[in-house]
Amino acid sequence: MHIIQIASECAPFAKVGGLSDVILGLSRELIQLKHTVEIILPKYDCIDYSQLQNLILDGESSFESKYGEEKFQVRIWRARYEEIPIILIEPLNASGFMHRGYFYGGEDDIERFTCFCRATLDYLTLFHPKENNRLDVVHIHDWQTALCALLYQDKYRQKGLDIIKMVFTIHNLEYQGIAGEHILRNVSIDWWYYKEGTVFEDLEKYGYFNLLKSGCIYADHVTTVSPTYAEEAKTPLGGRGLDSCLQSIQDRFSGILNGIDFQYWNPAKDPYLPVKYSSKRFFNNKYEIQKQLRDRLQLEIVQQPIVSCITRLVPQKGISMIKKAIFKTLELGGQFILLGSSPIPEIQKEFEDLKESLSQNKNIHFEMRYNEELSHWIYAGSDFFIVPSLFEPCGLTQMIAMRYGTVPIVRKTGGLQDSVIDVEYRNTDEVGEGVGFVFEFPDENSIDWVLERAFNYWHSNPKEWKKLVKRGMEVDYSWKKPALEYVNIYQSPYS
Ligand code: ADP
Repeated sequence: MHIIQIASECAPFAKVGGLSDVILGLSRELIQLKHTVEIILPKYDCIDYSQLQNLILDGESSFESKYGEEKFQVRIWRARYEEIPIILIEPLNASGFMHRGYFYGGEDDIERFTCFCRATLDYLTLFHPKENNRLDVVHIHDWQTALCALLYQDKYRQKGLDIIKMVFTIHNLEYQGIAGEHILRNVSIDWWYYKEGTVFEDLEKYGYFNLLKSGCIYADHVTTVSPTYAEEAKTPLGGRGLDSCLQSIQDRFSGILNGIDFQYWNPAKDPYLPVKYSSKRFFNNKYEIQKQLRDRLQLEIVQQPIVSCITRLVPQKGISMIKKAIFKTLELGGQFILLGSSPIPEIQKEFEDLKESLSQNKNIHFEMRYNEELSHWIYAGSDFFIVPSLFEPCGLTQMIAMRYGTVPIVRKTGGLQDSVIDVEYRNTDEVGEGVGFVFEFPDENSIDWVLERAFNYWHSNPKEWKKLVKRGMEVDYSWKKPALEYVNIYQSPYS
């Protein structure tokens, strides 16, 4: 199959969060399965171009596009990231939509990405090579590229673009892309042609248009990133206003648990690590890295577990529970490492103040920024990894931690629930063995309870502890199984 991924992020050269890891990991696995895969992204000026190979301007494919009243040239660039062809779309509009020094965060993000959607479909229609004039699969992701589904149905199909299957993946219902009517005019959609019962109901009733919802209605199949989140999304509590929409499409809506890129996240080959290890070979090197990590972060040398947390510091991630976990870890005699930053200035400041107030404590380290290299050391050198999210569509960090022999402590929600089985309280319906510690209620008492259990386990049973660590390392959370599930959806004639 010829599969095109259209997205706003791709690891590691255009990475903000988990979406980027999914685009890379899924694409690589699909290529392994002998499919032809290309990734289309905006040509942001802040891409880490040093990680791309063979970047060239495709002079043949530049064209004029329109957004609102403005006409401008769109340039097409081609590059590779390892074996994957990358196509970068650069709209040369007056306000430089992709020349901002950031991926997200402009007041006109809705305009930036809906313009990208339109330019991408123009490019696919006019220039992109297609076998038998058709594209097998176009896979779009989150609100930033959701409009491609409606644009295709409304305009580009008539213009001769032939896509057999359009699949839309929701990575997080929290971010929906709420647009005003002018956005539709900007991309030349006459919404009043549509009948009631469509996404345009919202426009009539409330005066806004929901990009994420449009993806759900106009794509052939909709997925989200774990089976439990797919169920939660259909409830008033988890659906963020889209529960009834998702219920109404439930025969073409499914949850596929993300994988992690086993090539990239591999302690046996990880170029960032000072020494390598696996569950079977040189396992004790994990503790050599722990020693070096303590040294590097100037933590005290103690015979106590390290609890770590690597995250975007946003309310979803359970801010008050992260703070509680820091103090409880110290109370239990452990050490805590936090690597995280926040797009919300108040939260960033709250943690910077906390860092300052704990600056004399040799059992704690805060790193308030994004640092890929350090994250690998922390995954490898820790004993526990805590993810106390209020909700979590999938979550990748708990899986990465397991791969590096660090035992996850997670809240029972979304993809965390689908990937971590409690070692002491395993439900009879759960398939597989215990690999971590799970708590249910999002409060501080639960953090106390789960950390006490985890520390007890670590202290009282070294043999069982080692078995637990190695079990986590051996669970297959690679993209192998999820990629096959996506292929099934891509190929299914039903939806
Ligand atoms: P989300 O997409 O909601 O941020 P995920 O768990 O799906 O959460 O993915 C987070 C990804 O971002 C992981 O690969 C994690 O290692 C990485 N990450 C998050 N914060 C940092 C940071 N401060 N430094 C390095 N990597 C980070």
